[in-house]
Amino acid sequence: MKKHNFSAGPAILPQQAIENGAKAVLDFEGMGLSILEISHRSKEFQAVMDETEALFKELLNIPEGYHVLFLGGGASTQFYMVPFNLLEKKAGYVNTGVWAKKAMKEAKLFGDVECLASSEDKNCSYIPKGFAIPTDLDYLHITTNNTIFGTEYHEDIDSPVPLVADMSSDILSRPVDVSKYALIYGGAQKNLAPAGVTFVVVREDVLGKVSRAIPTMIDYRTHINNGSMFNTPPVFPIYVMRETLRWLKGLGGVEKMQEINRAKAKLLYDEIDRNAVFKGTAAVEDRSLMNVCFVPNNGYEDLYDAFMDFAKERGMVGVKGHRLVGGFRASIYNAMPIESVQALVDCMQEFEKAHAK
Ligand SMILES: *Cc1c(COP(=O)(O)O)cnc(C)c1O
Repeated sequence: MKKHNFSAGPAILPQQAIENGAKAVLDFEGMGLSILEISHRSKEFQAVMDETEALFKELLNIPEGYHVLFLGGGASTQFYMVPFNLLEKKAGYVNTGVWAKKAMKEAKLFGDVECLASSEDKNCSYIPKGFAIPTDLDYLHITTNNTIFGTEYHEDIDSPVPLVADMSSDILSRPVDVSKYALIYGGAQKNLAPAGVTFVVVREDVLGKVSRAIPTMIDYRTHINNGSMFNTPPVFPIYVMRETLRWLKGLGGVEKMQEINRAKAKLLYDEIDRNAVFKGTAAVEDRSLMNVCFVPNNGYEDLYDAFMDFAKERGMVGVKGHRLVGGFRASIYNAMPIESVQALVDCMQEFEKAHAK
């Protein structure tokens, strides 16, 4: 049976990227070698690296003065790499949930951290707005999409200080005004590639301002000066990322992707709002287009396991919510076809027919 993959990450990738990745594992570019066993310094792989970087810049419309890096370590490594490189005295953080909190925890090792706003009072079900941003901060850090709680910033905010964003779970799902950010980072395993590669977009002028000594490997300038090849980069994940970016470009880029993502999210949220058995958990205006969180409606709490089984029997994978939110979470990243979202909606309607009081 065809499976519909709603996993939160690692997550669904375009079929074309997986197939081309599989071919490259067997024979990379007709070299008679696997991509898994070639030098990252070969001209064939250098071409992959160059194209991946060029496509990333083109699709995200990255202006002059920024560098794009492909590193190891995941977004979690950026939680300390960012403050190590940028935090001299004080940074501001917006606490919108688990990932933001983990980022704050690391930053506290390097300077003062001011939590400017938090949504913890309502179990992180909304995006705080209208808070003041002190102008003496080294930077402000936000998490644009909260993978666990299903909330998302739908606009790029204005900040009087350098803005840093964790975009792990909504990168390239919509157009972004990169000029409003000093640094954007994320693990690629939600929207772009298999686990193992981390993207960093950094504006040149924010670097070199802290007084501490920076170990070579965690100094962004090392990776800028070496084209992300100071050490061995995650070769295979970068290859698959290139295939995903080619797919995205072929589809019409991020504007088109956003249109499709809005249609997919609307289909599912409309059903959650209509269906008597379910209700959404995130504030309507802040609902994520990537991670759709919902729970059994009041009076239907005892149907949780029944729906999990029901959905599983119909080929739905990964709809279990994070333990901190409970309920269900359907991650509908870029590569998720609208047909799979429709299949989940059909499944919810069928379930309602069987159980609505
Ligand atoms: C998944 C995720 C992370 C953690 O990424 P790793 O690459 O596993 O370190 C961080 N932030 C957000 C928003 C995420 O969704």
